[in-house]
Amino acid sequence: MSQTLPGTIPASLFDACADSIADAARELSALGWTPATSSNFSMRVDADHAAITVSGRHKGRLGRHDIMLIDLRGHAVGSDARPSAETALHTQIYRRWPDMGAVLHTHSRTQSVASRLFAGKGLIRLQGWELQKAITGYDTHESVLEIPVFPNTQHMPELVARVEAWLDTGKPLHAYLIDGHGIYTWGRDMAETQRHLEALEFLLGCELDLIKLRAS
Ligand SMILES: [Zn+2]
Repeated sequence: MSQTLPGTIPASLFDACADSIADAARELSALGWTPATSSNFSMRVDADHAAITVSGRHKGRLGRHDIMLIDLRGHAVGSDARPSAETALHTQIYRRWPDMGAVLHTHSRTQSVASRLFAGKGLIRLQGWELQKAITGYDTHESVLEIPVFPNTQHMPELVARVEAWLDTGKPLHAYLIDGHGIYTWGRDMAETQRHLEALEFLLGCELDLIKLRAS
């Protein structure tokens, strides 16, 4: 894929974002959270653009040519590559929060099972876990961290609308699950976003273990 950049975006800036995405993707793939070319990752490049993974590539082997530039309406900029099918869920975050700098979406086994198990309730309520403090803005285990579970659909505008509807209630949102699918989370930069993702994976795993142990 050849990527032409607008004059306002230096190659060094785009390359740094692409490398950061590829590094994160390699780590997440090694953990088994991105099976079978699933998952997608992005980083804000400037106020109007983001870098995002090209659709369908193996996430453990991404290079700069597997990352493309898009505008915040999700259109390719300077290439004819096809962005991830779920690009609208990334651009929604960047449009809504100008200070958000990275979005990670993975399909781990834990995320997938938890999404099915809690889909009926529509959310997972986390409380009492020390690791909730890994989520920016949470400074005590006593806080309540709600992760909504939205129904899966191949029609992205429907999911975008569900996210908007949650936000319009005024409740905080740091991540959401999609039923039978995976998780989305974000942060101001890649490091914060990876921390959120790792914490959420751990917390979801703990909740699933508790349910199993209580049933046995
Ligand atoms: Zn997905």
